[in-house]
Amino acid sequence: MSEGMGDAAMDRRAIVKGALGGVLGLALPPFARSAFSQASLAVVPVSEGFVMLTGAGGNVLVRTAGTGQVLVDSGAAKFTDAVLKQLRELPGGGRVTTLFNTHWHKEQDGGNLAFGESGATIIAHEKTRVHLATDYYLPDEDRYEKALPAAARPTVTFFTGDKTLAGNERIEYGHLLEAHTDGDIYVFFRDANVLAAGDAISPLKDPVLDWFGGGWLGGRADAQEKLLKLSNEKTRIVPSYGPVMGRAELQAEFDMTRLLFDRMLAFLKQGMSAQDMLDAGLMKGLNRTFRDPARFAYDAHKGYWAHHNTLGPEVL
Ligand SMILES: [Zn+2]
Repeated sequence: MSEGMGDAAMDRRAIVKGALGGVLGLALPPFARSAFSQASLAVVPVSEGFVMLTGAGGNVLVRTAGTGQVLVDSGAAKFTDAVLKQLRELPGGGRVTTLFNTHWHKEQDGGNLAFGESGATIIAHEKTRVHLATDYYLPDEDRYEKALPAAARPTVTFFTGDKTLAGNERIEYGHLLEAHTDGDIYVFFRDANVLAAGDAISPLKDPVLDWFGGGWLGGRADAQEKLLKLSNEKTRIVPSYGPVMGRAELQAEFDMTRLLFDRMLAFLKQGMSAQDMLDAGLMKGLNRTFRDPARFAYDAHKGYWAHHNTLGPEVL
């Protein structure tokens, strides 16, 4: 709060804010309100037969086909109507047969209920199903996120290894152990060479490590190495946020992740806190700039402590 701001000024500010909310939320007629909520949704071409919906929370990858659409992630709940409308305009007419969830965060499974209720098979890691089937704690916000209704939960799950979905084309999927949460998966449309990697990669945004949900830097490095092995120069790689990537960009991100992992491990062995690490040059000379290095360092540092027993004898 700035100094000298009296209660009257605060009240005025609150009133102005409230009035704006009223203008946008209530004063518009219904058709304009729905146009407003869809204004940010965009259809981005990915590859022959594939598009990505952006502006729906997390990216939604769509394999369009007359026989039914396949989705990777369903966006945030408040955009579900906009996503459904958009899907109806694409080949397949909005009939979704299969939905994958790359992990259990709200911007990836907010549309699950609509697709589950219309009969889509929802495929995810077992840890994702467990998270969505029970209330779970969010330490940053000090509250519990509510479980999803039964119809919104994954119906086909797996625990370890890589799987292939039988059909006219090979759709492979598998675990990315602790890359961002404890339930991350990739989905690889091998014939089309399109690889959805969820939030295990992040071309623009700072990498997010949900340490309380099981993500850590070591898992992220391993996951990105696995994605590199799956891909080639022609692979179109789809993240949860940001633009479609190529393999060279994935390689650059992996190099950075690996460098950060090695640096942090060395610093950890010297007993450093997250702030000590930043002061000692944790982020020096990276191939990209972080918006919030302190946040990243804090979360990454937290994640190491869950794995101290696997980091070698000098750590404790
Ligand atoms: Zn996430």
